[in-house]
Amino acid sequence: MIKSDTLIESIQRLSTFQKKGLAKMGLVKVIDILRHFPARYGEAGLIKAIEFLNVGEKAIVFGKISHLKTAKTFRSKVPISTAEVEDSTGKIKIIWFSQPYIAKMFFEGNLVRIEGKVAERKKELYFSNPKIEKVSQMPEGVSGSLFSDKENFNLSPIYPESRGISSNWIYHSIQKIMSRGTLDTLEDPIPEKILKKYNLPSLKTALIWIHTPRKKEDAEIARKRFAFEEIFFIQLDRQKEKYIAQKEKSFIIKKKKTEIQDFIKTFPFSLTDAQNKSIKAILNDFKIGRPMSRLLEGDVGSGKTAVAATASFATITTNPPNQDFGNLQVAYMAPTEILAKQHFESFIEYFSKYKIKIGLITGSGAKKFPSKTSQGQTLNCSGPKDSTLAWTKIPKPQLLKWVENGEIPILIGTHSLIQKTVKFKNLAFIIIDEQHRFGVKQRMRLRRKYDIAPHFLSMTATPIPRTLALTIFGDLDLSLLDELPKGRQIPETKIILSHQREEIYEKVRAELKKGRQVFVICVRINDPDPDKENTINAKSVKSEAKRLKEKIFPEFVVGSITGKMKSAEKEKIMKDFKNKEIDILVATSVIEVGINIPNATVIIIENAERFGLAQLHQLRGRVLRSSYKPYCFVFANTKNQKTITRLKSFVNAKNGFELAEADLKQRGAGDLAGAKQWGVSDLAMEALKNIKMVEAARLEAQNLIKEDFELKKYPLLAKHLAEKSLIHME
Ligand code: ADP
Ligand code: MG
Repeated sequence: MIKSDTLIESIQRLSTFQKKGLAKMGLVKVIDILRHFPARYGEAGLIKAIEFLNVGEKAIVFGKISHLKTAKTFRSKVPISTAEVEDSTGKIKIIWFSQPYIAKMFFEGNLVRIEGKVAERKKELYFSNPKIEKVSQMPEGVSGSLFSDKENFNLSPIYPESRGISSNWIYHSIQKIMSRGTLDTLEDPIPEKILKKYNLPSLKTALIWIHTPRKKEDAEIARKRFAFEEIFFIQLDRQKEKYIAQKEKSFIIKKKKTEIQDFIKTFPFSLTDAQNKSIKAILNDFKIGRPMSRLLEGDVGSGKTAVAATASFATITTNPPNQDFGNLQVAYMAPTEILAKQHFESFIEYFSKYKIKIGLITGSGAKKFPSKTSQGQTLNCSGPKDSTLAWTKIPKPQLLKWVENGEIPILIGTHSLIQKTVKFKNLAFIIIDEQHRFGVKQRMRLRRKYDIAPHFLSMTATPIPRTLALTIFGDLDLSLLDELPKGRQIPETKIILSHQREEIYEKVRAELKKGRQVFVICVRINDPDPDKENTINAKSVKSEAKRLKEKIFPEFVVGSITGKMKSAEKEKIMKDFKNKEIDILVATSVIEVGINIPNATVIIIENAERFGLAQLHQLRGRVLRSSYKPYCFVFANTKNQKTITRLKSFVNAKNGFELAEADLKQRGAGDLAGAKQWGVSDLAMEALKNIKMVEAARLEAQNLIKEDFELKKYPLLAKHLAEKSLIHME
């Protein structure tokens, strides 16, 4: 009998190549391979007539091969084989890189089956590095639609593959394992009563149904069970964390309403209702003496910093417990140096009417406000250069000393903020900007570092669907900033096909002449290697900056910035851009998160087809910060109808939340690029389309934790959770 924790290599002879392939997919034990689920069933839907092919899709075509040739690329001497395949509807070119033998394996006129991704170059479709095999006959009735017909649902499972491990290999291994009684040894981690309640199959049944379904519905319900399971486990983990956090002690921060109002009155604007509501929720959490764990989700430009500043004000004007002197402290963490610096400067302004010390600590050094001497550097924003807002560079150890003795109430920084060397006297409140870059486990570990648990405010501008937020942020309470400050204009967004480029550049020129500034976003940093597939059409920061300067906007200053640059260099470029010494900034998506430059009112996004909706939205948010009319021009290099639909929903969506929901709906299983970022599998991502399932999983998790938070009655669940947490820790 084969057991679930038996190593795969002990039941099957493996070549080193196969071992590598398995390792790459994380398949080590028998249970791993049993839980390696089919990506789809049958290949019917993939078979296409050549004339129906679209760019970017995976497809299978059958036809006669001709024009077989092998050559070497001029520059890098990579051998390239080319050929053509023709069926009754059309012809398509095929290119193989570094596989010169292919041309020798086939003869003109051979009937072949080609499987691969359809790419495009110079308006011509081609297959790039596809699989090829000889076949004896054409399948019957190949057309654009016949095989994608649901009636033709073919139940043979197709598994995600890797080099050395084919779908077929996986299929046969699983058959072998299932025939050796392995399934009977498996225990189901989900309590039976929960399965019954939601009509979900047991682990054993679900495994049989997912790998060898007799009918389509079997496969579907099995997938549903595994999706439920994954979401349920995440929920258990988060609910447990929430439960534990609620037992911890925290600083009590109670402020009079009038004091808070006085602080808010110093802002140059009045708060939106959403901002007021969020502040109220935070101040309520502060009073209770248990650590707050709150997520502030607000579209770009919705004013999260003002909320953070107000909560910080309440914190630092509170004395430590049992003391009528001194102050509590705030740590404010940002994902990048540029952002940390920007928050530092924003906070200096928000607290300008108060005599408050603020520190900045990043990988490259430390700064402090106010500067002792009045010759410190002033803010480099375009506003009035007020010397009272000057900060100064100081040695890191000096700053750390002041943080440790409590003299600096607010410390802003990057991840270096939570290193061991940074000690606070009374850290009461931690703000994390752009939550998604900071893992749940990191947050927990951070909290447990302190004797008295600090309050947590996580802020994110990434619009995520409600179901996803409920799942991955299940331990957090949610505040939404769902309205923008008054007077903000939504950018005019346009999808642009290549022939309109000139027209758009003239529009951009008009804005530049009015004194506005422009972002241009490219996918790549350097020019693509012409011999590699996939990179052929994407524009690069380097060559686009050059092209814009030389050919399009010679009368303006063009600068460029990428994530790969040294931080001092980046800082200088951002400063120049802020000071209007650069008119057009060509960048990779490094500028995606939080950069605040109100005079930049135009953003051009090149190769928009390569960005996710959420990312496009973030980018558009860069030009949403002023009272000038903003523009977002989206250049897309695609004919794929799905992509175009996706981009259209970007144009039409009123806000990030709407967009996030649209994104979730439109993504098919298999192309959920964002899933990895959240640590959620494609299967569970599918399930996130279903709010009922997510709510059920959440409810059951809550109930279990309430009943027995250590899961003593559910040892299997407890074990599963412990293993999971370990994985997520790193
Ligand atoms: P985000 O939520 O993207 O972090 P910020 O906090 O950076 O947004 O705020 C964006 C800009 O809007 C800042 O220049 C800020 O001063 C301004 N702002 C914030 N709240 C308001 C408001 N209620 N009315 C007008 N402007 C505001
Ligand atoms: Mg922000």
